[in-house]
Amino acid sequence: MQPPRGTRDFGPDEMAARRALEERLRSVFRAYNYREVQTPTFEDLELFLAKSGPGIREEIYDFKDKSDRELALRPELTAPVMRYYFSTLKMQPKPIRLFYFGPCFRYDRPQAGRYREFWQMGCELIGDDTPEAHAELVRLALDLFEAAGLEDYHLRLGHLSILRALLEDLGFPVAEQAPLMRLIDKKELDGLRKALSVKAQGAKLDAFMRVFDYTRLEELHDVARTGRAKEAYDHLARVFGNLAAFGVDASKVRVDPTIARGLEYYAGLVFELDAPFLGAEKQLLGGGAYDLSGVFQQPPVACVGFALGFDRTLVALEKKGVKAGGEDVVDAYVAALDADARPALLRAVHELRRLGHRIELESGAVALKKALQRATTVRARLAVFAGAKETQRGVVTVKNLANGDQSELATTGLVPGLDAAIRAAARSGPR
Ligand code: AMP
Repeated sequence: MQPPRGTRDFGPDEMAARRALEERLRSVFRAYNYREVQTPTFEDLELFLAKSGPGIREEIYDFKDKSDRELALRPELTAPVMRYYFSTLKMQPKPIRLFYFGPCFRYDRPQAGRYREFWQMGCELIGDDTPEAHAELVRLALDLFEAAGLEDYHLRLGHLSILRALLEDLGFPVAEQAPLMRLIDKKELDGLRKALSVKAQGAKLDAFMRVFDYTRLEELHDVARTGRAKEAYDHLARVFGNLAAFGVDASKVRVDPTIARGLEYYAGLVFELDAPFLGAEKQLLGGGAYDLSGVFQQPPVACVGFALGFDRTLVALEKKGVKAGGEDVVDAYVAALDADARPALLRAVHELRRLGHRIELESGAVALKKALQRATTVRARLAVFAGAKETQRGVVTVKNLANGDQSELATTGLVPGLDAAIRAAARSGPR
């Protein structure tokens, strides 16, 4: 039997790589003083309907439980985290920095890099919408990929107020912009031009459409000279200024006025990060400034956050041949070659495990040849074994499987002796 369409089993090697990446990313969030939270895997369906509108139902797993509650597997984590914030954290001093890691579920059409169950790691910064805070958040996003060991990516930054002000100039007030923003979000520029041509034509429309080719801040300067557009431009310029001060490689970050991010509650800064070599499913991270207070009938609060696609990041690393680490190494394989040798070995194994070493213990007496075969199979650094002869002499044999060196250790003081041998073997290189 196979797992359901769009889901995957992860074997031990894959899990080791996933955990290693997870830990690297986690440590970046910790370095920025983000604190981890966890919310339920399923929520009231209403939460996602209120956030994204009725259309979202087509894209998610929703169901009724045995008491007829309408529930949904979460398609993302911003709405759940904000639900938690408004229910529990809203009185706490701001800014509040939260991060999360967990599975999300979408009724997407599965393909390479797109699954029905996938993991997101992301964060929300609540209560600080200064360009300085936004720049720090973008620096954090870039650091995640640095920590992961991915080099071939770029981040695009935009500001929705620029786009919205330009659309207003063309004769489309904010109330009429939703379908236009959706077209922009999907990069359907021909459709957009057609929709705009109802009210705008000629040079004016051409000038607007040219904005989508801009990649440098200076290019936006001329189209954002007044009002909200100018404010947005200044905000973006300060974000770029701070990014430079943070030492961000300018070739990795550019302006992209075409980022619309679909939903209305996105308010200002928006950004996306791609690994271009991945083709269609190349977006590894997306985020921006938003305000979800309306969904919860609460007073406004400025938030900014992003979500990183964990599985897609792993696909990118794999394509680039970058090892996420997490090699599955057993520190020692321990076998008694006869029953009398067991008690001394068992005591030592227990202590070594308490010291944090990873030990595979053979459960019964085995022949030496079998023991060595098994030690090789499980990729142990050391094979530790003792038979009747060793027991009589009060020693155990230790074999370093990387270089074949063999020595004996006295059973008195066995734990410090093996601890030292394991450390020495680890230092002398991976198996
Ligand atoms: P979004 O919440 O749509 O902005 O998604 C954030 C990130 O999650 C994207 O940039 C992708 O890397 C990842 N992602 C979204 N949908 C899927 C999916 N179906 N399978 C794998 N990763 C996904």
